[in-house]
Amino acid sequence: MAILITGGAGFIGSHTAVELLNAGKEIVIVDNLSNSKAEAVRRIAQITGKEPKFYQADLLDRPAMEQIFNENNIEAVVHFAGLKAVGESVYKPLEYYHNNITGTLVLCDVMRSHGCKKIVFSSSATVYGMNNPVPFKEGMPTSATNPYGYTKVMIEQILTDLHTADPEWSVVLLRYFNPIGAHKSGLLGEDPNGIPNNLLPYISQVAIGKLECLSIFGNDYETHDGTGVRDYIHVVDLALGHLKALSYAETHTGVEAVNLGTGVGYSVLDVVHSFEKACGKPINYHIAPRRAGDIAKNYADPAKARELFGWEAQLGLDEMCQDLWNFTVKNPQGL
Ligand code: NAD
Ligand code: UDP
Repeated sequence: MAILITGGAGFIGSHTAVELLNAGKEIVIVDNLSNSKAEAVRRIAQITGKEPKFYQADLLDRPAMEQIFNENNIEAVVHFAGLKAVGESVYKPLEYYHNNITGTLVLCDVMRSHGCKKIVFSSSATVYGMNNPVPFKEGMPTSATNPYGYTKVMIEQILTDLHTADPEWSVVLLRYFNPIGAHKSGLLGEDPNGIPNNLLPYISQVAIGKLECLSIFGNDYETHDGTGVRDYIHVVDLALGHLKALSYAETHTGVEAVNLGTGVGYSVLDVVHSFEKACGKPINYHIAPRRAGDIAKNYADPAKARELFGWEAQLGLDEMCQDLWNFTVKNPQGL
């Protein structure tokens, strides 16, 4: 019996693949490499000493997905595959809805026809929208402000409806906060195309000299130093949360939305200072206007993950920054 990892060559999927292999699980990876490289799969093998089965295929390609399920005994799916750039989604809504929603529909339909009814889905804290107070709890109303966020809200609904229609389904909706860091080995990490949108990849490229200066988007928020506060979580902690979610899905049917965050919020300036310690040099930054769509504070109430899965994040901000810096130094051109 194997676990299928969609998007398993990507940032979070590759770290989860490593932890599943280390735990002795059999895995199959499907990825179209639209935002990743085959090198990630080679490095998963290098770290674990185990060769994962890899299909370079698109979730939208139904015959290819059928073939994967025909050739493997898939017991559960961890579904990472999707386009994830918030800003780009505003300019390419059809591409985002087609890839993320239709891709999920094809996947679920093929799962259903093979009697595979366990899915762990990569949702996001973005589903808490602009109006909920922090800390975010799973029972709060969901909403979105951009096509990317809507794909997460819609897929959560689709998977919930699937369980309503067939209560044998086991659905875990993991709402990630801000995954950062990299594998301790320095072999795996985030490898964004072009100029990064997210804070940590941007800071690391400033530190390594590829980018000139970090723009801090606003210092007039109601936070301890005026800059935006987020719940940063080490990608390896996040990966381990998936193992717990899979164990839960093995023994429970139903739908559960679960936050994966630390419950601790750090500001942009806190992150800059922690990264400066990690890399041993100052990060060049300036204060820029607020970024449209940003909220002041965003952090999890992590109690449900602790109660349901017995999971909680172990690694702190300094370790996240050290591991990212180690990856950046070892891979200045990415993977
Ligand atoms: P990523 O881009 O590194 O990984 C996604 C992978 O999916 C990529 O390797 C890409 O090539 C693949 N993919 C995309 N569309 C595909 C398709 N149609 N068929 C096959 N493969 C396809 O992103 P990530 O940071 O690892 O994120 C994984 C998931 O977690 C995504 O669904 C993302 O929306 C979600 N998420 C990420 C974050 C974050 O900050 N990184 C936060 C919350 C939620
Ligand atoms: N941010 C910033 N400069 C950047 C990128 C991000 O000041 O170049 C800030 C952003 O305003 C937010 C935090 O860093 O307060 C995290 O942003 P990111 O895009 O990494 O994640 P988000 O929480 O928006 O998904």
